[in-house]
Amino acid sequence: MHKSNWLTAVAGNEKGDIFDLPGFAAVGGNGPLELPLTVSETCSLPHGGELMYLPGRAPLVYDLDLKQVVVLEENPYEPGERLFPVAAFNSPGYVITHTCAWQELADADHLPLFSYSAVGWNGDQFRVPLVQVDNEPRQDLRQMPVEKVLAGVKQMQKKMPGNRLRKHLEGCALKYGCPAGKNFFLGRYEAPLPSSAACNASCLGCLSLQSEGCISQSQDRISFTPTADEIAQVALAHIERVKKAVVSFGQGCEGDPLMVSDLLVSAIGKIRKATSKGTINLNTNGSLPEKIEQLINAGLDSMRVSMNSIRKACYTAYFRPKGYCFEDAVKSIDLARSRNVHVSINYLNCPGFTDSPAERDALLDFIKDHPFHMIQWRNLNFDPVRYLKIMNEAGDPGGNPVGMRVLLDQVRQMFPHIRYGYFNPAKETFQNMTK
Ligand code: SF4
Repeated sequence: MHKSNWLTAVAGNEKGDIFDLPGFAAVGGNGPLELPLTVSETCSLPHGGELMYLPGRAPLVYDLDLKQVVVLEENPYEPGERLFPVAAFNSPGYVITHTCAWQELADADHLPLFSYSAVGWNGDQFRVPLVQVDNEPRQDLRQMPVEKVLAGVKQMQKKMPGNRLRKHLEGCALKYGCPAGKNFFLGRYEAPLPSSAACNASCLGCLSLQSEGCISQSQDRISFTPTADEIAQVALAHIERVKKAVVSFGQGCEGDPLMVSDLLVSAIGKIRKATSKGTINLNTNGSLPEKIEQLINAGLDSMRVSMNSIRKACYTAYFRPKGYCFEDAVKSIDLARSRNVHVSINYLNCPGFTDSPAERDALLDFIKDHPFHMIQWRNLNFDPVRYLKIMNEAGDPGGNPVGMRVLLDQVRQMFPHIRYGYFNPAKETFQNMTK
């Protein structure tokens, strides 16, 4: 292969500078495989992607002269300068095919809750190994100018001054920069309806509660329980002004909404009494099928169940469920499907695990035995090296990974009706509901 076909490696230094390393190709991690990346298997870094350098680690790069993967602790062009791996945290709608490849050093600490894709340089651009599964601009930051968000905040302050949930969403939009929170104030696509401070799982990568204290959570959990009137008021304000509106329980700033299912039944009742418009969606761990039945009876339109794995041992090692088990989540999927509710799997994917032969086979069997409508491919926000270690202890991967692209194609070939995406669809766009 001519050297120009290789993606040039990049690295960072203590000052946070990011630079290319001529003579070395970028390496992508795929579980036990560390492979040099070519330009053709990457795309330019999508808008909104962020670059990070990773402390306590040294980059793996491919030495084009030695024709082998090497660890570079020091900058070959600046003797004595320590090098750090550079990873990309990509925009929504893209599946990572290769993670950033590094070697942990003695002073390596936990990495914060992001996904870490490989990244390299070519021509005048950063390039990343991604496959796009959703091109909807729902969370495109270019469509969310802050002045418009602020105008929306003021408008909602006037419309519902005493509504605590509206106040909470202000914090989401302005303090945490949450795109879902911003979309409520912008009157776009999907509005969040966080409601539960509690959860019956303890996910390794929970964004709203990290009880072990070694990883910082990305945002704080909602600290109060809104009333059904507060929830309905926010939902209806969104539905009345947004075409194909979606309103969703189960956000990154809460526990699992099933913990307050009676409240949700009442809120859905108030929304459906006022309008038949809009899609009422539930993002959940699916742990309590009997509660889900009550929500369906109340008028729930769609449900998204989060899973990092279709294998019980690997699911349990990640979700650490309390008082429920993997089979309960499966029961919820079957129940909702049988009641003609649109069902998605929020598949927390990580190259090296999700495309392992064992996980791939489990996924194909699962889709056959427990049909549903959509896979939302969501890059797992967790240190891939530590995640793979935990997962491989929980379950044998069954050989080398097949590759995320191959996995996406194989599922597509076997189950062409399964929709791929990233965002909760509006009911006007539901597909294959009879299949
Ligand atoms: S199910 Fe959701 S809220 Fe509960 S621990 Fe997991 S990520 Fe956190």
